[in-house]
Amino acid sequence: MNFRNVPLEMSGDEFKRVGHQMIDAVGELLDSLRKRPVTSGISPDQSRGLLGSLKTLPEHGMNAENLLQDVSRMLIDHSLYNGHPRFWGYITSSPAPIGILADMLAAAVNPNVGAWKLSPIATEIEAQTVRWIAELIGYPPDSEGLLVSGGTAANYVCLLAARAAKADFDIREDGLQGNSSGKLLMYASTETHTWIHKAADIFGFGTDSIRWVKADKRRRMDTDDLQGLIENDINSGHKPFAVIGSAGTVSTGAIDPLRKIARICRRYNLWFHIDGAYGGFAAAVPGLPEDIYALSEADSVAVDPHKWLYAPLEAGCALVKNKDSLRNAFSYHPPYYQFGEEAINYFDLGIQNSRGFRALKVWMALKQVGREGYKRMIADDINLAEYMYYVVSQRPEFEALTNDLSIVTFRYIPEDLRADKENESTREYLNKLNQELLFKVERGGEAFLSNAVIDDVYLLRACIVNFRTTPADIDDLPDIILRAGSEVDASMREESLKI
Ligand SMILES: *Cc1c(COP(=O)(O)O)cnc(C)c1O
Repeated sequence: MNFRNVPLEMSGDEFKRVGHQMIDAVGELLDSLRKRPVTSGISPDQSRGLLGSLKTLPEHGMNAENLLQDVSRMLIDHSLYNGHPRFWGYITSSPAPIGILADMLAAAVNPNVGAWKLSPIATEIEAQTVRWIAELIGYPPDSEGLLVSGGTAANYVCLLAARAAKADFDIREDGLQGNSSGKLLMYASTETHTWIHKAADIFGFGTDSIRWVKADKRRRMDTDDLQGLIENDINSGHKPFAVIGSAGTVSTGAIDPLRKIARICRRYNLWFHIDGAYGGFAAAVPGLPEDIYALSEADSVAVDPHKWLYAPLEAGCALVKNKDSLRNAFSYHPPYYQFGEEAINYFDLGIQNSRGFRALKVWMALKQVGREGYKRMIADDINLAEYMYYVVSQRPEFEALTNDLSIVTFRYIPEDLRADKENESTREYLNKLNQELLFKVERGGEAFLSNAVIDDVYLLRACIVNFRTTPADIDDLPDIILRAGSEVDASMREESLKI
């Protein structure tokens, strides 16, 4: 007997038989995505029904083959497909097929990438992935970094590195209670992603320690306002320690004046962190606004391979310029972890202890398509967004508002309301109308968008981080929106007449 009689074990033959069926199902999904609705429109009740979620924990198990068949079918038939050519919501990319396979391989070998000894090749692959990511975005090759769960976690890691580097007391030992004078303050524009609220809160600074810098008309950080706030805070005895710039804001893709911010940070000896979770990889593409090529000015950068490198969730990446700053922020050496210093032990460089092999899917995709492949795919996404902006602005029923990187914002305005769109009650009506129309489009499954709110105006927002989108998909968008919009408009007016 080579096997104990344990219910989890599978023989190699059984694994192959069951696994091939799953691979077949996924292959068919890839081929049929375009024919499917973007989302099945399933309700919370229906999805709970599918799970039989009132059922208690199964006492006994079931046959693995049936299980995998049932679950493949359930997930494939009832999910939202961010790999669909017309998925343009939030910033969630279509997953690279090579990444799907890589995740399975990573799970099969299952290295613990917390320590080199437990993951010899995997650790080196992660280190190479981090170096390649730095190279791709023009960050110094001798920087250091690691993969984390996403953009939020990458920003956390960088902010914690900033905190350890810039506090003039031993913040790791004494915490914020060791601070005997002035508040530690960070500066970020009002367009910054909400990770900063969570970070300021959970790391004990408090959200009041965020100084919100004004954004200009193009939603870029106003550096005069930044400088004024810093001066004012220093004069009041506070301790500014970090400025956060965005390379592609989450709502509209605006790129902050990164070179100017870098100069201000140098003047006041502040840590400069760039949140490039959305736009950082655009630095690989030539011909974009100059500031996107300034990432190397920052002390740290967060990027998100599960966005514009099209890695399946989850994969973020934190980079720091000074090699020691991660170790200075995170490292402890308890007696039961003596892994030596001659190789990287990633538990020293970040928040996690045991770590999965999320680098593999990123590394394999980089090898599969190379720099050239990524430059082309990202540039195409940006060009398609520009095309969408053009297509939408050609139609009198739409007001196209912004187009930065691969994000477009616009709204639907019925013809008879166009003249007084600035009017308070019309604006409110248009906000409600566009919100309802967005929900209708989502449920319809023909395309998937999300929203932005700029100056109290509710906008439809499309973000293309999707290597499957074609110009024909974009040509179809205006009619999809218009159909939903005129239906919602008609029924909303009917409702208001009833009152
Ligand atoms: C997406 C995004 C984040 C958060 O990243 P997650 O991967 O969702 O955690 C942070 N900042 C910006 C600018 C983003 O676009």
